[in-house]
Amino acid sequence: MQNLSKVIQDTAKKLLEEKKVDLVVGFAQGSLPLRSTPYFARTVDQAANLIWDEYCENNLTNYLRKREEKVAVVAKGCDTRSIVALMKENQIDREKLYIIGVPCQGMIDRKKASKLVGGEILEAEINGEEITLKGNGFEQKAPKAELYYDTCIRCAYGNPVIYDELVGEEVAAKELSFAEVEEFEAKSAEERASFLAQEMEKCIRCYACRNACPTCYCPECFVDTSSPQWISKRAYSAKDNLIFQGVRVFHQLGRCADCGACERACPMGIKLSLLTRKGVKDVKETFGYEAGLNPDDKPVLNDFTPDDPQPFLMKE
Ligand code: SF4
Ligand code: SF4
Ligand code: SF4
Repeated sequence: MQNLSKVIQDTAKKLLEEKKVDLVVGFAQGSLPLRSTPYFARTVDQAANLIWDEYCENNLTNYLRKREEKVAVVAKGCDTRSIVALMKENQIDREKLYIIGVPCQGMIDRKKASKLVGGEILEAEINGEEITLKGNGFEQKAPKAELYYDTCIRCAYGNPVIYDELVGEEVAAKELSFAEVEEFEAKSAEERASFLAQEMEKCIRCYACRNACPTCYCPECFVDTSSPQWISKRAYSAKDNLIFQGVRVFHQLGRCADCGACERACPMGIKLSLLTRKGVKDVKETFGYEAGLNPDDKPVLNDFTPDDPQPFLMKE
C-alpha cells in the first residue's frame, strides 16, 4: 500500500498549494507497531507525513462536522457513508469538503494479531497479502486478511460511495451478511437477556463508544444532563448501562454506517456491533434503507410515505 501513500501525499500537496483546501485530514505513522494515527496537514511540508496502510482504522468523519474552513479528507467506504449521513443532517457542507476516496479491503485488528503470536508485537511488516509479526523470541507470518476486524470481514461497502478523487483500485463487492445477528435473534428471550446483562456488567461508562461515533454528536447527551437525570452518572448497574447503550443504538437507527468505531473504542471488549448491526438489519428489513449510500434520499426516520408499514401513524 506504500504507493498509495505517495499518491495521497501528492494529492494533498496539490490541494494545499493551489489553496483549494486549508486542511487535509488523513493518517500519519503511529508511534507503535500496527498503528496509524489521524493527522492534520495544513502545509505542503506537513502533507509529506500523510500515509496509507492497513492500520488506518479511525473513521475520520468525526473531525468534519461544522468546519468553517475548506477541508480535504482521506476516506474509506465506511467513512464516506458517515459523511453522507452527516450531509443529510446539515453537519457537513459538501461544497467545503474534498473527498480523497480510498477503496478499502479491511483494517488489521491488533487484538487478533496479539492473540495469534501470544506476545508483545515489536515490529510488523506487510508484503502483499502476508503480514509478518515480530517480537522477542518470535517471528510469525499470517495471511493479513485473517487478521482483519470482524466489521471489515463482513463489510460490503469498502469502496467509497462518494468522492472527488479516487486513489487506488476499487475492491471486489461482497455480499452483505448479518449471520451473527441472525444467530443472536435465534436465541430465546432469556438467553438474549442474559447475554446482554453479562456484556453490560463489563461497561465502565467511559463513553468512548459514543465519542468515537461520527453520527453521535448531540451538544448535550442525555446521560450528562442532571435535570432531569435520566440515569445514574456512573456504571452502577448493568440495567442503567443497558439504558445508555440502548438509547445510543436507537439514536443511530438509519444513521449507523456500520464502521465499527464504537466497538473498537470500547476498552472492555463489549460486542457493541451486535447491537448496532441489529439496528442496521432492522432498518434495512423494515424500510429497505441503508445509511449513507445515497446522498439524494431523505434520512429514513425523517421521511414518511403512505406505503410505510406504520399504520399507527395514519388516521382513517
Ligand atoms: S468497515 Fe469496510 S470500509 Fe470500513 S475499514 Fe472496514 S473494510 Fe474498510
Ligand atoms: S454506531 Fe458504531 S458502527 Fe455505527 S456509525 Fe457509530 S461508531 Fe460506527
Ligand atoms: S466504550 Fe465500552 S465501556 Fe465505555 S461506555 Fe461504551 S460500552 Fe461502556
